[in-house]
Amino acid sequence: MEEKDFSVQREAMVDYQLHNRGITDTAVLNAMRRVPREAFVPRELREFAYEDTALPLAAGQTITQPYFVAMMVEALNLNGGERVLDVGMGSGYLAAVLGSIAGEVYSIERIGELAEAAQQRLTSQGFTNVEVKAGDGSRGWPDRAPFDAILVAAGAPSVPTALKEQLKIGGRLVMPIGPDETAQELVRITRVSADEYESQDLADVRFVPLIGEGGWRRASPRPQRSFGRRRDSNEDTELAAQIAAVAEPFDSVDELPLDGLLERIGDRRVVLIGESSHGTSEFYRARQRITRALIEEKGFDFVAIEGDWPDVARIDHYVRHAEHPPSEWQAFARFPVWMWRNEEVREFVDWLRVHNADRRADERVGFHGLDLYSLYNSIREILNYLDEVDPQTAAVARERYGCLTPFQSDPATYARAALNPGYATCEAPVLKMLQDLQRRDQEYAEHDGERFLDAVQNARLVANAEEYYRSMFYGSRSAWNLRDTHMFETLEELLAHHGEGSRAVVWAHNSHVGNARATDMSRRGEFNIGELCRARFGDEAYLIGFGTHTGTVAAASNWDSPMEVKEVRPSLEKSYENLCHQTGRAGFILPLETGSDKRVVRGLSHPRLERAIGVIYRPETERQSHYFEATLTAQFDEYIWVERSRAVTPLTTASLRGAPDTYPFGL
Ligand code: SAH
Repeated sequence: MEEKDFSVQREAMVDYQLHNRGITDTAVLNAMRRVPREAFVPRELREFAYEDTALPLAAGQTITQPYFVAMMVEALNLNGGERVLDVGMGSGYLAAVLGSIAGEVYSIERIGELAEAAQQRLTSQGFTNVEVKAGDGSRGWPDRAPFDAILVAAGAPSVPTALKEQLKIGGRLVMPIGPDETAQELVRITRVSADEYESQDLADVRFVPLIGEGGWRRASPRPQRSFGRRRDSNEDTELAAQIAAVAEPFDSVDELPLDGLLERIGDRRVVLIGESSHGTSEFYRARQRITRALIEEKGFDFVAIEGDWPDVARIDHYVRHAEHPPSEWQAFARFPVWMWRNEEVREFVDWLRVHNADRRADERVGFHGLDLYSLYNSIREILNYLDEVDPQTAAVARERYGCLTPFQSDPATYARAALNPGYATCEAPVLKMLQDLQRRDQEYAEHDGERFLDAVQNARLVANAEEYYRSMFYGSRSAWNLRDTHMFETLEELLAHHGEGSRAVVWAHNSHVGNARATDMSRRGEFNIGELCRARFGDEAYLIGFGTHTGTVAAASNWDSPMEVKEVRPSLEKSYENLCHQTGRAGFILPLETGSDKRVVRGLSHPRLERAIGVIYRPETERQSHYFEATLTAQFDEYIWVERSRAVTPLTTASLRGAPDTYPFGL
């Protein structure tokens, strides 16, 4: 097989992920310029070797994100020639980086199979100064002690005593410490004298647990390991039969049975409806049927979707027959256009407009966007609004938002600029603008409540998007959390705006809607709107998820690449999807609440694999890029299954010919 040259990506990784983020130690930067990370990641993940993320390794372990490798090694203050202990060797990448700088490295890995593979990689890369052994590194390596530096790449409740004892006076130890197995603080301990240690906090991190005498005592019952539990295939066959017996079957989503579902939803306030891809027709159609029923039979007040506020505001203008004209730019024009600009959504939008037509303005059902990618369209909307109602403030706003203008073509570059020490970020001016607008509440709201809401939401979006782009650079966790926090705040604002007791339907991907606590996400420190709703509204929030076995899906191969209709691979064995597939049903609705069938709920409450397809689908690396672990019963209140699904139909110019000027999807 042809070997790809990764040197350009490696250089870029060092420049953007390390140097621009404040790693300055040239020994560390040079070592990471030399060690080929692609040789340390599993073969099928090589193309991701220089992504800004941790990667999965055999035996449920992970290879540390490059940025944290650099941060940890830098914190050891190595000058060359030192004797270093590396605990939790994993892939061996960190050992290789250490070996390129220090004199001798002693690496310990608990899992024999990993130690062996890592040893082979180091040998084939020509490292002769790294000694490897399999065993419990929380006890250190007494034969080789004392060490100038110790690095531990796994988390423990406290620093193992043995390691502290094996540190030379003046030596440094860097490791993640935290009271639970999923979240730690990266700390540096310096031994200042025989019995004195100084400690310094470096960063919030998530590492796998250090398992052993000086760490966590045994493999924890977290999903990651319990997943490995042998599940008898007979057990699954039985469970599938039980599911088939209790689930409410349907042949087509167009005839979705709604009575049971509506009854279970009762008078809850917020219903979040997911999707396990951004391009499956059945999910959109089922979601719309449910939403229509919620509106018609239960009087829900608005729908809020995973789309950008100003784009979705155009749909809102249209469906609520608003008087002021929508703005002129092309809404939903950014990648991925098919996600909302499709026949399925159009059908709902047209229905909603008719539904609203003969209702009083204040009784019309709204349609709103929760997402924050529309930084510049939002700025333009705020300026348009202020120009009209308050030209003086508009001038101030122009100046403040001017700070962000140079990055218009690629907001992500803002993040890079903002990283330069001494660069004045736009944080203060955009926050000031939001606060100013909020303070004018009374004054402007009298003018026009709806339009004022629109301006404030756009200002909130700009403030959160500014922070989002700035933090995007530090790794995906905080950026993801900011985005879902923004979605949640927007939802809360909307509930307040629509008045006391108002009720909302949310449409977003399963990964936003399903409680993050029940999935891998929480291990990475990520939460989502489903989790935030659960915390805020308790039982008043109802979470509905979707899944499918096979069929086609509209998705791209890369960000900004064209949409393709791709074949969805049949679901993997041992996944929830495969279990549902074994029911032999074309489709069903399955209640997962405790009140539901006990055996089914119990059977489904062990973690399994679950598939998520976003706007990108890469069948080639499906297991790594699209499956994660989750506990379905804790993730959703209800699960809707479609055995065989089809791609959504994107709107084309021809399909919109003759649409009125105000039509939200105008091309
Ligand atoms: N730095 C590594 C990251 C490995 S993840 C890399 O970049 O590849 C942490 C590793 O610590 C896992 O491989 C895990 O098996 C190992 N580990 C956990 N407890 C351990 C212990 N007590 N002794 C040695 N290794 C341990």
